[in-house]
Amino acid sequence: MTTVAVTGAAGRMGTEVVKAVSECDDLDLVALIDPSFEQDDRHFTNIEDAIKCSQFDVLVDFTRPTVVAGNVKAALAAGVNCVVGTTGLSHETLEELASYATDDACLFVAPNFAIGAVMMMEISQIVAKYMEHVEIIELHHDNKLDAPSGTALRTAELIAAARGNAPQKPGKETENESCPGARGADYKDISIHSVRLPGLVAHQEVLFGDKGQTLSIRHDSIDRTSFMPGVVLACRKVAQHRGLIVGLEHLLEDE
Ligand code: NAD
Repeated sequence: MTTVAVTGAAGRMGTEVVKAVSECDDLDLVALIDPSFEQDDRHFTNIEDAIKCSQFDVLVDFTRPTVVAGNVKAALAAGVNCVVGTTGLSHETLEELASYATDDACLFVAPNFAIGAVMMMEISQIVAKYMEHVEIIELHHDNKLDAPSGTALRTAELIAAARGNAPQKPGKETENESCPGARGADYKDISIHSVRLPGLVAHQEVLFGDKGQTLSIRHDSIDRTSFMPGVVLACRKVAQHRGLIVGLEHLLEDE
């Protein structure tokens, strides 16, 4: 039996994680951590108290970019494997956090736990070798705290690595962008456009263009349950790994 704690357990994602883990026979949810809780023997307001009073094999973190590092440092230093969904941390920060891990602890981070989104990223890498010109549009609910999304940044990173030398960016507007930002943010020579609207959950379109044709790859998470099979898989598999691992695709390979 793998014992699990959840930070951000009262949040939108945390609530779903609590439900999903509770429904698994091989996972035992022993600690729910969120500043909004009243403390008792299973609920905690902070990670330090949870580590002192409870024992768990895995910490799942869906909190905020400003607090995730503190939670992960405390857990890794206590030998607890971490499954992190919180976005907004740079790769350098993740590498630094991983250095707090005791010898066999793993920091597993997925910018997106939805299997369909992982497939969107995998397919984008294949297409990028043949159609070099690409832009990314990511669309999220209006309470999202970071932009661009972790998924968009990861997709751009993977595309940039897959296509090798970046071609000239599409568009000739550089001297005539009458509204700054109209062409989106630039990351790895790829334009990323972030949409924020109530009613959305998490969506992304990767648009490739070439002479006389376009190819769009779109993924929609229409409900937060879409992330849960990936989170549960990570809780089950994380103990088989060590150090920093980024991307659910690495755990799917074990299947
Ligand atoms: P949310 O604001 O609904 O929930 C965050 C929760 O964290 C809140 O309940 C808050 O009280 C709690 N919190 C704050 N400080 C804390 C601390 N020190 N310790 C423990 N809990 C603390 O946010 P959300 O919509 O659930 O999103 C959470 C994160 O997950 C965001 O970074 C979001 O981008 C990310 N996300 C990732 C994926 C993915 O697949 N990787 C999918 C959706 C969302």
